Amino acid sequence: MEFNQFATNDLMYITNRPPLVFTEGDGMWMTDHTGKRYLDYLQGWAVNALGHSPQCIQDALVAQSKKLLNPSPAFFNAPSIELASLLTANSCFDRVFFANSGAEANEGAIKLARKWGKKNPNKAGQNRFEIITFDHSFHGRTLATMSASGKPGWDTMFAPQVPGFPKADLNDLASVERLINENTVAVMLEPVQGEGGVLPATREFMRDLRALTKKHNLLLIVDEVQSGMGRTGELFAYQLADITPDIMTLGKGIGGGVPLAALLAREEVSCFEPGDQGGTYNGNPLMTAVGTAVLKTLLAPGFMQAVNDKSAYLSAELVKLSEKHGLEGERGEGLLRALKLGKDIGPQIVDIAREMQPVGLLLNSPRPNLLRFMPALNVTTDEIDQMISMLSSVLDQIDAAGK
Ligand SMILES: *Cc1c(COP(=O)(O)O)cnc(C)c1O
Repeated sequence: MEFNQFATNDLMYITNRPPLVFTEGDGMWMTDHTGKRYLDYLQGWAVNALGHSPQCIQDALVAQSKKLLNPSPAFFNAPSIELASLLTANSCFDRVFFANSGAEANEGAIKLARKWGKKNPNKAGQNRFEIITFDHSFHGRTLATMSASGKPGWDTMFAPQVPGFPKADLNDLASVERLINENTVAVMLEPVQGEGGVLPATREFMRDLRALTKKHNLLLIVDEVQSGMGRTGELFAYQLADITPDIMTLGKGIGGGVPLAALLAREEVSCFEPGDQGGTYNGNPLMTAVGTAVLKTLLAPGFMQAVNDKSAYLSAELVKLSEKHGLEGERGEGLLRALKLGKDIGPQIVDIAREMQPVGLLLNSPRPNLLRFMPALNVTTDEIDQMISMLSSVLDQIDAAGK
């Protein structure tokens, strides 16, 4: 089919998209409307934890769709109970609320923290409500989560903002300490800033932050929408620093491609009362059955070891590539990595790589001087070699054009 036979203008114009329509996906590969194949290092934005359309998700969707789609959130359903039990058994959290997107899970975290701040007021008896977040952080696209985010320009985009989100600097404890006042109730951060350019919080910073929040009776909220579900080589990134946060949010990888997210809290903090939180699709059995299939795969013996082996391999290959082309190295945790280009050629690389023949390569450049890699967690070393060799030829092409 020709691209212009698709009525793309019927969709709201919210971002610039290449003139391609993707029709199929399989593991690390996607196919467009002309039949061209692409090696996909975006994976739906770190969403397809097990690659495109894995068998276990197909099976879960088919089996559950034959049983029960949605009994309403007024009733219990078996897949949501099973997934909540698996999550609490494998984390430091005791209670789970399921949501449909990362932003919605984070809205829930903000509400839960404010509720807790009402139950635990300051010395003057006032509700505590301020949540310290970080410059360059990303927490979602609802009004409250945009306000919580530290993306440049977002403070004025849909003014007025939701108040109560002062910004500190990642890995700078003093910058957090300075913002603490009698209204502060929590600190919220991504253990690895994903959209901000794959910037990990150091383990020391995470530990110091936990100690600081404890000292001031503040909640520590980790937004693991991108870093959770095995992405960083641990099931959850907070485990890298061996700390116990109070609240965690999950999204992206938990659904392996379908809309599913979660808000988790420790018992002491789980203070919602009936009427505080809910939603039509929240915890529906179709999506939570998929989440269960994904999490069981991650928990299978050897799976996380393989993620760590692949991470080490990808990291080493990126270092070699960087040396070969005179770039500035790489960074990241697990299979969330970035290549530092040293110049603003990221968008150019993304375009050339996608347009390569006979197969294309899909990459992401969250900042112009950076490429981000978020392959499926079950990516093979062959698929890493193939990506490195394609990227190397793109870089050769750019080097040659620059001479
Ligand atoms: C993607 C992302 C979100 C938002 O998730 P949506 O499902 O797009 O709403 C929130 N926080 C982090 C860290 C993310 O990477």
